[in-house]
Amino acid sequence: MERKSFQLGDVVEMKKMHPCGTNAWKVIRMGMDIRMKCTGCGHSVLLPRSRFEKRMKRILVHGEAEAE
Ligand SMILES: [Zn+2]
Repeated sequence: MERKSFQLGDVVEMKKMHPCGTNAWKVIRMGMDIRMKCTGCGHSVLLPRSRFEKRMKRILVHGEAEAE
């Protein structure tokens, strides 16, 4: 079974898309809570890690490669 693993800078797809119509979120902070930023509108949200893992569908882009 594959375990969802993610790291800082990853762009992930969630089960629900953001109201702005984008479903690509960049992980910008890791810890007990995960902060992710909508790549469409720039809105950022903070989620407890367990909830983040439940809501995440897949990783679109593996992070740390691109500098912003
Ligand atoms: Zn958005």
